[in-house]
Amino acid sequence: MSHPKLKDFRRIVVKVGSSLLIDSAAGQVKENWLKALAADIAALHQDGKDVLVVSSGSIALGRSRLKLPAGTLKLEESQAAAAVGQIALARIWSEVLGTHGIGAGQILVTLQDTEERRRYLNARSTITKLLEWRAVPVINENDTVATNEIRYGDNDRLAARVATMTSSDLLILLSDIDGLYDAPPGANPNAKMIPIVEAVTADIEAMAGAAESELSRGGMRTKIEAAKIATSAGTHMLIASGKIEHPLRAIAEGGKCTWFLTPANPITARKRWIAGSLEPKGTLVIDAGAVNALYAGRSLLPAGVIRVDGVFARGDAVIVRGPDGHEIGRGLVAYDTENAEKIKGRSSSDAAQILGVSARTEMIHRDDLVVAGARGGDTGK
Ligand code: GLU
Repeated sequence: MSHPKLKDFRRIVVKVGSSLLIDSAAGQVKENWLKALAADIAALHQDGKDVLVVSSGSIALGRSRLKLPAGTLKLEESQAAAAVGQIALARIWSEVLGTHGIGAGQILVTLQDTEERRRYLNARSTITKLLEWRAVPVINENDTVATNEIRYGDNDRLAARVATMTSSDLLILLSDIDGLYDAPPGANPNAKMIPIVEAVTADIEAMAGAAESELSRGGMRTKIEAAKIATSAGTHMLIASGKIEHPLRAIAEGGKCTWFLTPANPITARKRWIAGSLEPKGTLVIDAGAVNALYAGRSLLPAGVIRVDGVFARGDAVIVRGPDGHEIGRGLVAYDTENAEKIKGRSSSDAAQILGVSARTEMIHRDDLVVAGARGGDTGK
């Protein structure tokens, strides 16, 4: 079974673990590594993807800055360390993303923010607004106020909740290990890495063990928990090594990692995302022939478009309405308003001529289209 490609995804949560980010001996953030990661994030962002970062490191960074001795911290000590570390962490993210002209927005969440519906909706709308503004949300648990009983404690599960809350279609856990092994790789030289996990079964859970390092709270166990949260909500997940420079580029180039696949294929997950979590920027009114084509699972061609309303850019979500104004579906339009106006009602070959030979012929490609109550036409291809 093959896995999807990074380029297939529209909204990606990247979780960065403390041990990757912080050089505990030097008590500093690993700046060069972080700069390389920021360049990878900027490349995805430039590609039109929404990127969210879940960054650990507040406690680790705080403890280095405060020169606290090694060993386990009491709850109030880690809360206080997080207060010092988080302020530094936020500044660093803001700087490295700022170099690429990307605004970073700090979001600190507690368990209740993801579990209580009202707070959940509130956090979600703030994050969605940031994404709409093309900023990159940088999220962590609000460790200074989260107490033992009511905290995630690990950012693996937090990242999974953030991913499902924002209808992200991929969660990437960057870790100090490059994937899931069938036995602990340190102790067992014959341990094999598992490239694709199609379902988190009891066998898979048994492979997780319980490893934790001093810096990061989550071992493989919390990553498997994260996989359960993510994949049951239609989000794919992968675990990859963050120990190399440009870890996201490595994934895009097919580098080693473990994929946890959600049963919903990426198109379906993406379609759910198109249907549910975008503010449409305009409307295309289409003729009866096009309505039938859409119900049969085909793309929307320029010829079927009667009217173009609203102001949208290429890739924006629009509502598609029938000649009587009835909503047929929603999709990501392939042209901006001006070009859509120019080619509406024209044959695909006319459209290509009007806009230049390289123009794609669909107004909305079927993969980018969700037809409300489609009559069996959606094969998910
Ligand atoms: N929220 C914690 C921090 O920023 C990290 C938890 C984890 O390592 O997963 O320090």
